[in-house]
Amino acid sequence: MMEEDKTTNSQQVPTSLEKNEAPSASEGIPAGIRSIRDLIDQVTGRNLQDYDEVDAGYAEQWPFPFLALVGQQEMKLGLVLSLINPNIGGVLLVGPRGTGKTTGVRSLIDLMPYVYESNCYYGCVEEDLEVGGMDAICPNCVEKIARGEDLSTLRSARLVELPLNAQLEDVLGSVDQNAAAHARMRVRRGILSYADQNLLYIDEVNLLKNEVVDVILDAAAQGSYTVRRGQFSATYRSRFTLIGTMNPEEGALRPQILDRFGLRLFVQGLEDVDERFEAYLRSKAYMANPKQVVASYAEETMLARDEISAARQMLPKVTLSKETAKLGLALIQKLGIASLRAEITLFEAARALAAADSRTEVTLDDLQQIAPMAVRLRRSTFMQNYFDGQKMEEEEILDAITMIMKAGNE
Ligand SMILES: [Zn+2]
Repeated sequence: MMEEDKTTNSQQVPTSLEKNEAPSASEGIPAGIRSIRDLIDQVTGRNLQDYDEVDAGYAEQWPFPFLALVGQQEMKLGLVLSLINPNIGGVLLVGPRGTGKTTGVRSLIDLMPYVYESNCYYGCVEEDLEVGGMDAICPNCVEKIARGEDLSTLRSARLVELPLNAQLEDVLGSVDQNAAAHARMRVRRGILSYADQNLLYIDEVNLLKNEVVDVILDAAAQGSYTVRRGQFSATYRSRFTLIGTMNPEEGALRPQILDRFGLRLFVQGLEDVDERFEAYLRSKAYMANPKQVVASYAEETMLARDEISAARQMLPKVTLSKETAKLGLALIQKLGIASLRAEITLFEAARALAAADSRTEVTLDDLQQIAPMAVRLRRSTFMQNYFDGQKMEEEEILDAITMIMKAGNE
């Protein structure tokens, strides 16, 4: 095994995964995933397929490669589905410290789909112009329009990380006292406006101040938000996919916040000893030479990114039949879940899964695969007890009404 490591490390420019995978102990365990198709095949129990090789480019940064993550199939599937379909409503990763939640989220950077993003410091986009006219964009962008230039450019979506201890002003934006006297320019853009069309990542969301969480969730739900400071106000778009992590050991999440995350992914420590050792070797190799590890997965990463783009394009064509939907709803009803977000997430994630599998119709298998991630942590014992208690009271009320009416009629 050590000989293998040496040959692997001696190669400068890796050309394929087989020859250059990070030092590996994986003779006895199944190979990792090499594409989103692999991931789908593995979670659905299908066999692996062959792949055409594609040209690879080097990324500027070197996040741990998504395809090099060992195990954690549920986390990987949930994260990929959230890239394919933003209507899933965000993802919450629940698990103890040190299980690779943050590594998993950051590894998405190289898989990000392409989006149109503002070229302007103040976040002006073409839609602002369409909706609010010239007053809704900054003077620089008015000039750009006059010159026939675009206000936004197609580029890779980004992962915007909310800093720990983020304050309300950082998130929403703040008044820039020194700026020019144009309403839009008096407000410094906040993190939320930078997150538009991107992924917003909140580590330890359960430790964030309530007021900050509320603002973020409102902006995510509405897709835009307005900052008002005295006579100045500015509206920004905030259509982002929210990804949060929480370690239940460090405090609970308010139920109303928990409800607003779409998929809930459990991320536990790897149980298989071989997998754990493989994960250790890969992280050791990554720490020694991140660039090389990233390069050894570059081709597969590019392919996975193309697969995600293709699934995104296919998504509008994916349908869910009424019969299939009814079974999903029956499950949610059986579990006594009140929130409509349960079925939105279940159905939208199932559609994304079908698209990732190049199918235009959601099957029962899709629903079965997604259901645990969509419905867990949604049942409320409090509400259940509350309604049970209320049901008794309702019966007493009806009995009393019947009795009094009867007496009145006699
Ligand atoms: Zn502008």
